[in-house]
Amino acid sequence: MPQRKKIAIIGAGAAGCFCAVNIAEMSDEMDVCVFEAATRPMHKLSLTGGGRCNITNPFDEVDSLAEVYPRGHRLLKSLFYSLDNERTAQWFENHGIRLYAQDDNRIFPQSDDAMEVVDRLAELMAEHNVRLTTNSKVTAINKHDDGKFSLTFADDGDRKETFDGVVVTTGGMSHSPLMESLRALGHEMAEPVPSLFSLKVKDDALTSLMGATVASASVMITGTKLRAEGGLLVTHFGFSGPAVLRLSSYAARALAESNYRCEIAVNWTNTSEDETRASIQKLIKANAAKNVLSAHPEQLTKRLWEYLTAKAEISKDRTFAELGKKNVNKLVTVLTSDTYHVNGRGQYKEEFVTSGGVALSGINPKTLESKSVAGLFFDGEVMDIDAVTGGFNLQAAWTTGYVAARNIVESLRS
Ligand SMILES: Cc1cc2nc3c(=O)[nH]c(=O)nc-3n(C[C@H](O)[C@H](O)[C@H](O)COP(=O)(O)OP(=O)(O)OC[C@H]3O[C@@H](n4cnc5c(N)ncnc54)[C@H](O)[C@@H]3O)c2cc1C
Repeated sequence: MPQRKKIAIIGAGAAGCFCAVNIAEMSDEMDVCVFEAATRPMHKLSLTGGGRCNITNPFDEVDSLAEVYPRGHRLLKSLFYSLDNERTAQWFENHGIRLYAQDDNRIFPQSDDAMEVVDRLAELMAEHNVRLTTNSKVTAINKHDDGKFSLTFADDGDRKETFDGVVVTTGGMSHSPLMESLRALGHEMAEPVPSLFSLKVKDDALTSLMGATVASASVMITGTKLRAEGGLLVTHFGFSGPAVLRLSSYAARALAESNYRCEIAVNWTNTSEDETRASIQKLIKANAAKNVLSAHPEQLTKRLWEYLTAKAEISKDRTFAELGKKNVNKLVTVLTSDTYHVNGRGQYKEEFVTSGGVALSGINPKTLESKSVAGLFFDGEVMDIDAVTGGFNLQAAWTTGYVAARNIVESLRS
């Protein structure tokens, strides 16, 4: 009878627990042990989607994975052949979690309860005799000459346990002893920096509009190609909303390097100068004798229109007919390229992901095995992979969890 193989999974987050269940389903010859630093598993998963768990996305409106995975899109493109969003949704449905898609394309459990996902994964681990140990922070990984691994724990330096294979799935890591240990094993780290945050702008006139939204705007960092489109929200400290969160994701590293100081240009209409000019001319024609504040472009609220016309230095006493070419030009500039100085970052409802982590250059892109240490695998946000909001981050956790499971099983079978 072949000897049972022992696998350690470091981190009981979404990626680690999904990986553990899949290993157990793929092979009954493996003993799977999951070590979690916190007092309970999957704490972050329980908070996802505002407690509802935006589990994945149909990807219907995604033209290229680079749009939603600023880091890791090439790797994920090939891994999606193993487990894409559709097969992931099927996996959860097959395991008893009914899903639905919201109008904005985000997919949630029908229960609207992240705890359903947490509890089901925990249940499946228990059914398969996966050993879960909480309050167990791993601080180092050692590989021995016989090919086996031993782990060092923060609480108990004397604990000795060897494993045939290890999966590191510790999520977005800041500097930690484990990260140093991975470095010592030959892994380069992309410096961890936050992603998915709102932008602070000190501008009382703007922030007095708190709560104002436009359905489709674009925001770019001036002097760069970093640009994102989507809804825009004015907050009490600056800008938020999908366009800004996307921009923060695309520009996560550049913004960290500039200490979150830069100039942004907001295009409030998300159309070209010519198109914006044409819609202003239409407005003038339809409302010639009326006051400039009496009508406004469809996508802007009355408050925003008042603010933007004032910014274009147009007197509120004028009629539309009195707007000369010069005023129209000023208005078009403000509507399509309204600049602000960003002086910091905020948070998006406490949701942010870490950009950075174990550099993909050191990981086999087909198997997720370390290129420098055979038998050591990675999955989830610990790798230099992250996404914009919409269920894409969890999708990366499910896909990489599945691929790491399949390949560690195959490597230990051979
Ligand atoms: C509030 C919030 C809401 C979010 N909502 C969504 C959403 O709706 N949809 C979406 O797609 N994404 C969402 N995200 C992002 C998503 O949660 C993460 O991308 C995902 O959880 C990453 O999974 P992971 O398993 O790689 O990491 P994690 O979930 O962070 O799990 C890593 C685990 O490893 C443990 N660990 C760390 N170091 C050690 C160690 N040395 N030893 C042992 N254990 C260790 C940690 O305690 C943790 O439990 C949200 C994030 C936040 C913060």
